[in-house]
Amino acid sequence: MADEYDYDLFTIGAGSGGVRASRVAASHGARVAIAEEFRVGGTCVIRGCVPKKMLVYGAHFAEDIEDCQKFGWTIEKATFDWKTLRDNVLADVDRLNGLYTETLENHDVTIFHEKATLTGEHEITLASGKVVTAKHILIATGATPRRPDCPGNEHGITSNEAFHLDAVPKRILIAGGGYIANEFAGIFNEFGSQVTIINRTDTLLRSYDESLRDRLLQISMMKGIDFRFHAEFRGIEKNDDGSLTVSMTNHEDLEVDCVLFATGRTPHTKDLGLQEVGVELGEGGEILVDRFSKTNVDHIYAVGDCTDRVQLTPVAIREGQAFADTVFGPGDPVAVDHSCVASAVFSHPPIAAVGMTEGEARNKLGDIKVYQSDFRPMKNVLAGRNERSLFKMICDASSGKIVGIHMIAPEAPEMMQAAAIAVKAGLTKADFDATTAIHPTMAEELVLMR
Ligand code: NDP
Repeated sequence: MADEYDYDLFTIGAGSGGVRASRVAASHGARVAIAEEFRVGGTCVIRGCVPKKMLVYGAHFAEDIEDCQKFGWTIEKATFDWKTLRDNVLADVDRLNGLYTETLENHDVTIFHEKATLTGEHEITLASGKVVTAKHILIATGATPRRPDCPGNEHGITSNEAFHLDAVPKRILIAGGGYIANEFAGIFNEFGSQVTIINRTDTLLRSYDESLRDRLLQISMMKGIDFRFHAEFRGIEKNDDGSLTVSMTNHEDLEVDCVLFATGRTPHTKDLGLQEVGVELGEGGEILVDRFSKTNVDHIYAVGDCTDRVQLTPVAIREGQAFADTVFGPGDPVAVDHSCVASAVFSHPPIAAVGMTEGEARNKLGDIKVYQSDFRPMKNVLAGRNERSLFKMICDASSGKIVGIHMIAPEAPEMMQAAAIAVKAGLTKADFDATTAIHPTMAEELVLMR
């Protein structure tokens, strides 16, 4: 490639999408640089999916310790030390940060640990004042947590800070009814916090199937999580003893020790010089791209949460890979298929889904068949835990083709990954019925649904 530019590719943002794109572009022979103003690894690795999942594991021991008595075990004086878990999790985050950095270095990707801004069509200026040029530019800056606009909102934290707390809050109010709210509600509840979720409507996890949402709400309430619906923030006041008084619409004030905002994430596209070089943004600040992740400016691309297509790590990784293969690879252009993306909420218990919900399928297909299995997992039966699981399969009535599978159950995300292959491949209910069950498992319900 011509040496007219310092680099063939300059990536802004070393999260999941940016790292994958840079590494693959470099392996195709491109000269690549990447800038990251926080830590290499991005939200997922540093302050998202990965440390969150470790907290979910840590939290689940609370139930295991309770349940194990029915299995004959006695654990005397079980205690939980937040700082031990927190520090072990953060140490593992450091390890992963090192691995991600190493991966880039091993592919000869130059890393700038500072903020980068576009200052010309092919020009990037770094915080240190250094100016570089690149033939192609990739924006992979992710998204940042949104804070409700209310007086005192500076007293609340976001998921970014939740991993660094000095102690488990005795009383925590979580704002929002989505992924982060339900996941952290489960975590803090297991650690002994009094958890209250407040949500502006009465709908949790809007994109998931209604029956599963209802089941999660019922189980969460049984576990002691409080919900306040149609509650919008009016304000937060800090009291002399450090506690916070939260006022909201339709409900009485609530005094808590911590407020966690989980009200969505906004594409991180401000102050990057994007509009100055003519890159078009959508109403929510997201970068508008075509199916090859190209913006309206020919040599500028964007992947991951900053494009707000599907805000999930594996999607960002696929977009990064497809971009690098398209622009620097020897083959045909590759577009990412955003349909039928499986997802999971790591609540207690978790939810997992792929394809259309019952409501969506009814609206889109009209004639559908719904199969379900509502059961109490064997482990819960012996433990005396009154917690039922629910599996749902939605099929096109005429062809029998499965258009959606939805589960709320222990390990639902683990089971879903395999089931999602079948749905993506267009298999039918008859294909599932023809598969012999593995007994005794929860997963066997997938092939036994009626
Ligand atoms: P979500 O989009 O999941 O949920 C946001 C919640 O906040 C919704 O209940 C929404 O209500 C509410 N809300 C939005 N704006 C406001 C507002 N201005 N005032 C009050 N409430 C508001 O976002 P999260 O923050 O939980 O997570 C961000 C994203 O990160 C997710 O969309 C997901 O893509 C990703 N993520 C994925 C995880 C996973 O894969 N397991 C885990 C964590 C995050 P309404 O429904 O009315 O809009």
